[in-house]
Amino acid sequence: MIRKFLILLLVITVGYLSEHPAAAQNKPDYVLVIHGGAGTILKENMTPEREKAYREKLHEALLTGEQVLKSGGSSLDAVTQTILVMENSPLFNAGKGAVFTAEGMNEMDASIMDGKSLKAGAVASVRHIKNPILGARAVMEHTPHVLIIGEGAEEVTAKYGVELVDTSYFFTQKRWDSYRKVKKKMEEQEKHGTVGAVALDMHGNLAAATSTGGMTYKMKGRVGDSPIIGAGTYADNNTCAVSATGHGEYFMRYVVTYDITALMKYQGLSLDEAANEVIMHKLKDVGGDGGIIAVDKDGNISMTFNTPGMFRGYVTSGGTEEILIYND
Ligand code: ASP
Repeated sequence: MIRKFLILLLVITVGYLSEHPAAAQNKPDYVLVIHGGAGTILKENMTPEREKAYREKLHEALLTGEQVLKSGGSSLDAVTQTILVMENSPLFNAGKGAVFTAEGMNEMDASIMDGKSLKAGAVASVRHIKNPILGARAVMEHTPHVLIIGEGAEEVTAKYGVELVDTSYFFTQKRWDSYRKVKKKMEEQEKHGTVGAVALDMHGNLAAATSTGGMTYKMKGRVGDSPIIGAGTYADNNTCAVSATGHGEYFMRYVVTYDITALMKYQGLSLDEAANEVIMHKLKDVGGDGGIIAVDKDGNISMTFNTPGMFRGYVTSGGTEEILIYND
């Protein structure tokens, strides 16, 4: 009798766990994953001081977002606060330190998406919004639109308290030198450094956000994947939240972030399998450089890229934090 009961209990437990993989894997209360751009990031080109600076800033970004998640805050607030840290740092190609267009201007793009409501907001080609991610959030929360560009975006979001600054705020000598070099050679260099964050909060809600200065020496008015929902950013509570970085034209043509969620949704692929398929096969096969960070509804993480390096890191409620730069 007891044996029969134990066998029944075992059958029920196995059945439950296979239907609820999260339970089997001990789903974390919260997860935050970030990137600071993918590209030709090689150890031999990096000084120890520079590497330290990147690691410290990535750690600060993770810590900032983690505070939000730890205190029961939303994934939306967590990704917003995390991106702000990286936008305010001249190390990354987003906000201060954005790369220059062919005309020597900074034109920035950003987007944010809420996996619960599937609401999204984005700004593109903005020159005065100090923190483009706040512009994107204002578009999502205060307008009936998803994407507003240029002066329109600046005017509208300023009404909701988004800070505008003089274009000189975004200038950094490093990006300017890189622009001058590229201008001379007429080829791209130092083109990556976009920032992104995805989070799962204690309430089971996913969010994703991405912010960039675009690609060095891009044409005036060029918009990349970062502010395009489905290309550079996507979040859906039923699958995962994804933020991308890389050669935007490919990410737009291959609708990368949405494709990852679609493979999970319609083909039942795991996050890892879906990210691998899109980044390491579909994109890589056609020369689309870049990568993604993602977290799925069960707290599984992916940081997949087909370039030599990608600034990246994650933190989970289990107390695990990791920051990585190269392909290791
Ligand atoms: N994806 C960005 C763009 O094409 C650039 C990057 O991620 O480095 O605008």
